[in-house]
Amino acid sequence: MRRKLAAGNWKMNGTSAALSELQALADAHNTAGVDVLICPPVPLLHRAAEIVKKSAVTVGGQDCHAAIAGAHTGDSSGEMLKDAGATSVILGHSERRTDHNETDAAVRSKAEAAIVAGLNAIVCLGESLQQRETGVTLEVIGTQLAESVPSDATGDTLVIAYEPIWAIGTGKVPTLEQIGEVHTFLRTQLVARFGGETGSAIRLLYGGSVKPGNAAEIFAVENVDGALVGGASLKAADFSPIIAALDAA
Ligand code: PEP
Repeated sequence: MRRKLAAGNWKMNGTSAALSELQALADAHNTAGVDVLICPPVPLLHRAAEIVKKSAVTVGGQDCHAAIAGAHTGDSSGEMLKDAGATSVILGHSERRTDHNETDAAVRSKAEAAIVAGLNAIVCLGESLQQRETGVTLEVIGTQLAESVPSDATGDTLVIAYEPIWAIGTGKVPTLEQIGEVHTFLRTQLVARFGGETGSAIRLLYGGSVKPGNAAEIFAVENVDGALVGGASLKAADFSPIIAALDAA
């Protein structure tokens, strides 16, 4: 059985004041039946980890460097995130692929480093609107999956997040059939590459404008094991009903 996961990506949002939202979430989910993860900006990570320590909520990073340490100004390694209290790290988010020219190969190296550091790597992939409209979605996703995901990944070390770029922060969501098609494709590819046991154990999240109002129908789609949520993870009042919908799915 794959454990469901509700993951929140705060992106570059939140100063100390935002930690009260995390406190509210931790208070509300001290015995959650699903995994709940919040990935705040790095400067908040250590304090965030202290806040959730006695709850069922965990915290993670939004990126890490492929090296353990060295002359990489502005970057953080997986070991550093782990040391600050992270359990997981989001890698290859489309905003990083765009803003920092991250290639599939770079994402794979980061994922390998994150796993060595003891973090759960959440590898993001997804098509652009143009790719969706020209009918190459599965081809694009297949290539990203093959090239961004390390070969030694397991259900305990890797999560895949399918995030159509055109659905992130836009309020647009693919149809349930489109989500189901991609998630079934991902599952088939994972089983083909890693074998039945590991391929079936790796969790598949959907991400892109998940809100309290659409979460339940998305979570009912086969092979959707949870969500990666941006905007609606910033407030406990928005994220809590999404967690509840996942718990009920
Ligand atoms: C994201 O940033 O990964 C995301 C899915 O954002 P949003 O939920 O705001 O679309």
